[in-house]
Amino acid sequence: MVRNFNLVIEHQCPQCGAPADLKETDRLFVCEYCRVNSCLLPRDYFRYLFPKSVSAKKNLLFFPYWRFKGMLFSCLPTGIEHRFIDLSCQAVESAYFPTSVGLRSQALKLQFVSPESEGRFLQPVLPLRKALRIYEKRFNTMMSNPTFHKVFIGETISLIYSPFYVGSKLYDGILDKPISSILPSNFETSLSTEKRPGQYLRFIPALCPDCGWDLNGRAESIVLNCLNCNSMWLSTGNGLKKLKFGYIPGKESNNVYLPFWRINADITGIKLQTYSDLVKVANLPKAVQKNWNDIEFNFWALAFKVRPQNFVRIAQQITFKQPQEISFSKISHADHYPVTLPMEEAAQSLKISLASFMKPKDFILSELQNIKIRPKKILLVYIAFQENHHELIHSEFHVSINKNMLSLAGNL
Ligand SMILES: [Zn+2]
Ligand SMILES: [Zn+2]
Repeated sequence: MVRNFNLVIEHQCPQCGAPADLKETDRLFVCEYCRVNSCLLPRDYFRYLFPKSVSAKKNLLFFPYWRFKGMLFSCLPTGIEHRFIDLSCQAVESAYFPTSVGLRSQALKLQFVSPESEGRFLQPVLPLRKALRIYEKRFNTMMSNPTFHKVFIGETISLIYSPFYVGSKLYDGILDKPISSILPSNFETSLSTEKRPGQYLRFIPALCPDCGWDLNGRAESIVLNCLNCNSMWLSTGNGLKKLKFGYIPGKESNNVYLPFWRINADITGIKLQTYSDLVKVANLPKAVQKNWNDIEFNFWALAFKVRPQNFVRIAQQITFKQPQEISFSKISHADHYPVTLPMEEAAQSLKISLASFMKPKDFILSELQNIKIRPKKILLVYIAFQENHHELIHSEFHVSINKNMLSLAGNL
């Protein structure tokens, strides 16, 4: 698997025009010059293009590639298999254009596609799902059979357009060199180009919709907070949406707040409504106590990205604890780790989470298809972890998270 990386996008501040480099994962842009903060709100996914070489002045044709990054979990008879996938593949099937973006996206800066982008843009007629299936077939290592359940979680999808131009041959617009033999005469008419690119991305000032104060958060966070009116805001394609939140504060100092989604769900096909059900389903080494029947079961999922193996482990450790003491207090001034995994993505992980702790495994996995989990109530909960040299630790929940692992997860 290729080492994952973050695209770099050159951009101009929407307020003052100063140039800036953004990371693919950035959702809040803080201009170093005018200090104005903006939220990046893509309509569905980001669309980028490679600028052409200076010498290539011809009528440019932009060819689309899907870029996909995400975790794939598969439940197999042997257990849960996971892998991290980072790939680019054609969004139009063509034998003339290169099959992927290749290493370019690591070496060259990109730009956002906007209505002002010059050139003709080929329509991405191959749906991503189909492109992924072609990819699966080509590598054929991803699916061992039978698979009881398979899901992508935390995926980032974008389109990358690469410039070409057409003469007697097809030319690469970055290298300014031919990349094909002689083209058939109907080549150009066989391509379906889009109308002008639309407004796919909005930059809106990062101000609290309720009180107008500056919103705070780290660049890659999809949740920003307002310390003035004590509100939290989720950035979505339609704008900022107010979010309910809670805290599980720590007893010590040196705290970092890690974000989790507490998800209450309708579960059918297995009895899992209370804490005592959980103890039975997971075969926890505990004697069930009477009042555990009154404690409602909730899934706990991560609201931040980590490598797949850690994702399952941490979710399981918190879910086993079923934390109850959530306070709905004021926003803390302590460091908030950025929310990078949307609640919809976290909700998709619940079956994997269940499969990871159900016992006995062989019976359960074959039953998995009959189990339905429908999320009902979702709450963002920040849990205080104590920070030491190498780790973030929650001693009561028995969770430790390696800081190095977290910083590497910044590219996922
Ligand atoms: Zn600026
Ligand atoms: Zn406010």
